[in-house]
Amino acid sequence: MSLQGRHILVVEDEPKLAALMHDYLVASGARVDVLGHGDDALPLLRNAPPDLLVLDLMLPGTDGFTICRELRTFSTLPVIMVTARVEEIDRLLGLEIGADDYLCKPFSPRELVARVKALLRRSQEWAGIREESGNGPLALDEERFEARWHGRLLDLTAVEFRLLKALAARPGRVLSRGQLQQQLYNDHRIVSDRTVDSHVKNLRRKLAEADPEADPIRSIYGVGYKYEP
Ligand code: CA
Repeated sequence: MSLQGRHILVVEDEPKLAALMHDYLVASGARVDVLGHGDDALPLLRNAPPDLLVLDLMLPGTDGFTICRELRTFSTLPVIMVTARVEEIDRLLGLEIGADDYLCKPFSPRELVARVKALLRRSQEWAGIREESGNGPLALDEERFEARWHGRLLDLTAVEFRLLKALAARPGRVLSRGQLQQQLYNDHRIVSDRTVDSHVKNLRRKLAEADPEADPIRSIYGVGYKYEP
């Protein structure tokens, strides 16, 4: 996969690192903008959103936490967070901040390019969902993080939204708990099967609240789940 035609925004205040990231991403075909000050990020993200954001945590002005948290109120744009603080990772990827992946400093620019490609591939799979489910009962609005069932708004958490997206992207196909975990978290964290099960349970309950007839998620004993509207 080349990054041809992809627009990536890098927010990083260390000039040498920013230049290195810029050069490697450009060499892979991407169009890359670099910002060195946190205050410039949100206006640009609102007015000219890129395809993916690489965001340093510690920045002059608005820090990476605040930028990502604010971004998530209006966009599901893929975000890779860059940090030297390993202890912050859970918080970065959790609901509070909502980054999709992270890189720990120091990292190799090759690793950055690989992560960018992987995350874009994953987002692309998700983007196909809206088209496929265009005439079905389910409508997903990724910009607003909203799911509707027959027009009725479902009150989902970010993880439940991603889970529903992952299942609905492949109607009729069984996805294992492991595959669903990969869709939900990209960070190789150990998440137990029961975590997926409990998210599915909550998702089903919310669908049933919106429409008692709605039961589009089937469990396949010993394997996983599938979406069948
Ligand atoms: Ca920094």
